[in-house]
Amino acid sequence: MDENQYIKLTGLKENNLKNVSLLIPKKKITVFTGVSGSGKSSIVFDTISKEAGRQLNQTFTTFIQNRLPKYSRPDADSIENLSPAMVIDQKRLGGNARSTLGTITDIYAMLRLLFSRIGEPFIGYSHVFSFNDPQGMCPECEGLGKQIKPNIDKMIDQSKSLNEGAIQFPLFRVGSYYWKTFVLSDLFDNDKKLEDYTKHEWHQLLYGENIKIDLPSVWETRQDYEGVIVKFNRLYLKRDLSEHSKKTRKHVEDFTVSGACSNCGGTRLNQKVLSCKIHSYNIAELSAMELSDLSLFLKSLMDPVTKPIVDKMLASISHMNGMGLDYLTLNRETTTLSGGESQRIKMVRHLSSSLTDMIYIFDEPSIGLHPRDVENLNQMLNRIRDKGNTVIVVEHDRDVIEVADHIIDVGPEAGTQGGEIVYEGDLIGLMHSGTLTGQYMKVKPSLKEHVRHPRGYLVIDKATSHNLKGFGVRFPKHTLTVVTGVAGSGKSSLIHGELVPRFEDIVVIDQKAVSTSRRSNPATYTGIMDSIRTYFAKANHVSKSLFSFNSKGACPECGGNGVIYTDLAFMEGVQTRCETCQGKRFKDEVLQYKLGEKHIKDILDMTVNEALQFFQRTEVVPTLQALSDVGLAYMTLGQPLSTLSGGECQRIKLASELYKSGNIYVLDEPTTGLHMSDIGQLVSILNRLVDNGSTVIVIEHNMDVMKQADWLIDLGPSGGKKGGEIMFEGTPHDLVAKSNSLTAQYLKKDM
Ligand code: ADP
Ligand code: ADP
Ligand code: ZN
Ligand code: ZN
Repeated sequence: MDENQYIKLTGLKENNLKNVSLLIPKKKITVFTGVSGSGKSSIVFDTISKEAGRQLNQTFTTFIQNRLPKYSRPDADSIENLSPAMVIDQKRLGGNARSTLGTITDIYAMLRLLFSRIGEPFIGYSHVFSFNDPQGMCPECEGLGKQIKPNIDKMIDQSKSLNEGAIQFPLFRVGSYYWKTFVLSDLFDNDKKLEDYTKHEWHQLLYGENIKIDLPSVWETRQDYEGVIVKFNRLYLKRDLSEHSKKTRKHVEDFTVSGACSNCGGTRLNQKVLSCKIHSYNIAELSAMELSDLSLFLKSLMDPVTKPIVDKMLASISHMNGMGLDYLTLNRETTTLSGGESQRIKMVRHLSSSLTDMIYIFDEPSIGLHPRDVENLNQMLNRIRDKGNTVIVVEHDRDVIEVADHIIDVGPEAGTQGGEIVYEGDLIGLMHSGTLTGQYMKVKPSLKEHVRHPRGYLVIDKATSHNLKGFGVRFPKHTLTVVTGVAGSGKSSLIHGELVPRFEDIVVIDQKAVSTSRRSNPATYTGIMDSIRTYFAKANHVSKSLFSFNSKGACPECGGNGVIYTDLAFMEGVQTRCETCQGKRFKDEVLQYKLGEKHIKDILDMTVNEALQFFQRTEVVPTLQALSDVGLAYMTLGQPLSTLSGGECQRIKLASELYKSGNIYVLDEPTTGLHMSDIGQLVSILNRLVDNGSTVIVIEHNMDVMKQADWLIDLGPSGGKKGGEIMFEGTPHDLVAKSNSLTAQYLKKDM
């Protein structure tokens, strides 16, 4: 065996790792599997990627090192043969309103270059075509494409007169200084309802300008009449809002909406740039095309001068198409991309790079992907490897596990019951290994036989959000409905753009962060911290408040965080353990009080599972049980919520809904982060909610979940413009028997 062909890890002890050693073959695809909490991230992120970052830092001068994030040495005996590592996760692509898919992929830069070469008429160098350049941007919105506008419907109640308070904006309310400028203007009948105004009166009330009026002497300065909207714009929108009080800013926010800039129509560019065209298209029109159409357009350009640019653009676009992203447009703001889309775009960026001998680390890249798209993903992973890179993937998806050259299964279970390598080798070996992952790779659940019958429907008569083609659709009540379809087919648009806004009382259980406060944790979030503090107070005859992070019991140095955070201007901040309390978060005095044998810090260090043992027969059991039921048994009660993954955030929210009934729940890929063995558990929780009288609607790609649905709504046929239609509505059985949609095809293959 040639040692150089492996990354050699010896004596790993981060988090729950039990002094494990392993070899990862270089220039191969290695997939890490295992239940959540088993220790995959502890190996891949907390050890490998951390050490790679640290080693890279050490190659810089001390001067630069002092300006880089500090990586501490991971807890391991030795780590050999590393290369620089690149982590490609689902963190949203940063950026602001000025960054678009085009700008971050450099495709827009190439398009600008193209316009500067062959655009008619020639207007200047390529930077002129940038909406982030003063020469190219629309002067009105300064290149944002959007404008904050007054929300007239909200601001004006037409069923009232001026005296009755037709102007709803609080700062113009009846009796106010500004209100008087309208009613004392002598331009209106102050008792006439606005709905009875003539067109002229209405226009004057809102948009009147430069009208000389005689106002009583209280007005010394401004003598001209100014309409409601004109005044609002002048006072609040044309000024820097930060000049105003917080309260005023809130009022202004409440009475404005964001809409396309009326000057540039949302294109962000000025008239000169928009007038420059290639074959009758300007740069904004090309940016608004779906990538598949843009590539057809580019292929039609035969100019030998621009061939090199065009070829480069086509190569980038074809990588995007390969990742199932051809429904996107260059003008799409990066902030509106989903986590899965962001990850796939990052992947494309790296695929276009020519670096070799790197380590690429992927965190559940199958998220958001239909089984069809997973095939494309797998090809992309192969291509990255074939360029001479080492690919490391943390993944639960059967189809991704199947492309691995090497599999490392971590387990056997979570937390203290995990932290070991239970299998290393190829797929066939895994299936015979008897590990939990191995067992689930072999068995595939079958279709649900007896589906529930709906009792009533939530009906949408015409769905038009984004790419949806105006279809009608119904969601059966008191059933488990799964919405399927390839990425970009319109699932989120249907759920979040149509269903949720239309019906009241829909509870959205999403993957957004639960809390940004560093002091919140599962115990405080679920409310059991309060009970625990009461138990401590009673047992020790002291005040309950001692046991709170937010009170006098907390370590004064770190404010109960246990760590000190240092914010760095341009990079992720760093944290170091608090010296005063040694990370214990409480004053020593507080830690002398015990419940059983444990002090409060011991309790917060318990996993949900351990706490279930410790708190037997107390009122916190149902909540702990719910956390365990959703697959969070391995999580400690004190883990800061800010460190939770998206999937974990969704499951902790789900746990707090478990004992409610009669709601409509919407979940977005609840299997995210779940091992195959946990999915059965998740499905039974969703079933329990339905049995308790709720309606559950999930967007999901996992076929084990699809098979267990009472009702499926399948969108397609493809993404973007080529999607947005209903391919199938009905039971899983009928989908397989009667439909030939992509989802039906893959489901058939999976049985
Ligand atoms: P996986 O990636 O397989 O889901 P992890 O490596 O994230 O598992 O977690 C393994 C164990 O280590 C779990 O019990 C988890 O609660 C614990 N753990 C993970 N990160 C931390 C941390 N920052 N501090 C303390 N414990 C942690
Ligand atoms: P899915 O959830 O099935 O992946 P989406 O509903 O996210 O599909 O997308 C359907 C279409 O709507 C795609 O063409 C996508 O680019 C477009 N779209 C989605 N969100 C936005 C948005 N915020 N702005 C503009 N277009 C969007
Ligand atoms: Zn504009
Ligand atoms: Zn402290």
